[in-house]
Formats: sequence, structure tokens, C-alpha cells
Amino acid sequence: MHRSLRVAAPALVLALLGAAAVAPPSAAQAPRRRHAAPKPITVTWLGHAAFLVTSPGGTQLLLDPFLRQNPSTPDSLKDTTRYHPAAILVTHSHFDHSADAKAIATASGAKVVAAYDWAQTLGLPDTQVVGVNVGGTVRIGDVTIHAVPAMHGSVPDGRPMGFVLEFADGRTLYHTGDTWIFGDMALIQAMYHPGIILLCVGGGPFTENPRAAALAVRRYFRPKVIVPMHYATFPVLATAADVRAAFRGDRRLRVMVPGETRQF
Ligand SMILES: [Zn+2]
Repeated sequence: MHRSLRVAAPALVLALLGAAAVAPPSAAQAPRRRHAAPKPITVTWLGHAAFLVTSPGGTQLLLDPFLRQNPSTPDSLKDTTRYHPAAILVTHSHFDHSADAKAIATASGAKVVAAYDWAQTLGLPDTQVVGVNVGGTVRIGDVTIHAVPAMHGSVPDGRPMGFVLEFADGRTLYHTGDTWIFGDMALIQAMYHPGIILLCVGGGPFTENPRAAALAVRRYFRPKVIVPMHYATFPVLATAADVRAAFRGDRRLRVMVPGETRQF
């Protein structure tokens, strides 16, 4: 045996013993680590396109507040002084999306995230106005908000949009606003992979109907959850039965009732 190896051998044995003593237990012996369930995204449908969304970190966002005159909003939820969100998000200026935004912002001090051109006409303090446009990103609390296109109108000011909410845990929620199916939805999927879609389905004279909305999801998205909205509020819009028929067999569909809260 080589001299240097003979000298080194006892140390080598000790080192091996030591290594064995601190070796990690086998997989069978290892204590099972419980994966904590992710904190939920909480969604309350207030009727039509209005939702209250609370992030896993507790940031509350109110989307498209049309409440006091909204025939589908439960009476208990029409009182605008009950809302204290971090921000109010308005997809476009039409009354059925924006009617109570200013009143709630004034009463609560909440910021308003909306098309720049429209938001600055509200007469709110500058500190409460968060003007955006398509492609823009702003952050409210622990939520990153991406403004994306919608194919609709927005008179008198600004342009129609949808919003993708990106949460701190990487999950995403897409409120489509009012829209028709359009090819750039493929880019919204490619960039943000929305896991929850609050989907305009109402049809009638103004937006995509349930069949077009179902096609939009099949062709462009891969959500885990689809919450239909903007239907049954007025007689010209699709009914819940129309929506269920268009999405028949799609287990991702979650038909909520106004006032209902679900966690995802
Ligand atoms: Zn609308």
C-alpha cells in the first residue's frame, strides 16, 4: 500500500462513518411534509359584470360597480357605503359597468383603475385616479393588473378593456369586460394563462352570446374555472339556461347566483 494512503485510511473511515451518521433518512423514513393549501382567491358576484375579488394576500378589488340600479344585485349589496376596496376597476364607461364607481370611490377613498381618458373626467383627487390603457400594467396591493383589449365601445371617453389580475402566487384571473370573440385572445392566453375567467356571455344586441363565448374559451384559453357574467340582467340578454346549454358538459363552468361568494 502506498504510504500516504495508509496514513490517510483511518481518517477516511472516520469520515465515511460520520457521513453515514448524518445521512438523510430514506424517503420511506422521512416525515411527510404537508403542502399548505394555497390561500384562496375569493370571488363574489354582485350581478351583471360586477365582482368583488379578494386576493390570497387580502387585497380587495371591486370590478365594474353597477349596483344601485342593477336589477340582479341583491338589495343587501346595493348599499355603496359597504364597500371599502383598495381599488375599483372599470372596464369601460357604459353605465352598466361604471355607474357607482365615483360614489364608492368618494365614500371609501378607493383608487379607480380605468381608461385614462375616462378616469380623469370623474373629478376625483389625482391620488385616486389610476389611468391605464391597453398593454398597461399597474399594481394595487399584492395584485398586478394588466389592461388587455376588449372588442366593444366606450363612449363618451376612453376605450373598452378587460383586466387580467395576476396574484402573488402566480395565479391569474381574467375579467373580459364586454366583448366579442377576437383573435388577440390567443395573446392574452400566451402572456397570462388565465386560470379563472369571468366571461361575458350575455349576447343580445351588444356582446358575444353564450355560443361565441364558449367557442372563445375552447379556441383560445385553458382555464380551470369559467364564471359566466353579463347575462339575465335584462330581458334582451341570454338566460342561465342558454349559458348552460352552450357550455354543456364543460365541468369548468361555475354558474354563480348574484350575491354568491366562491373561493378558488
Ligand atoms: Zn355591458
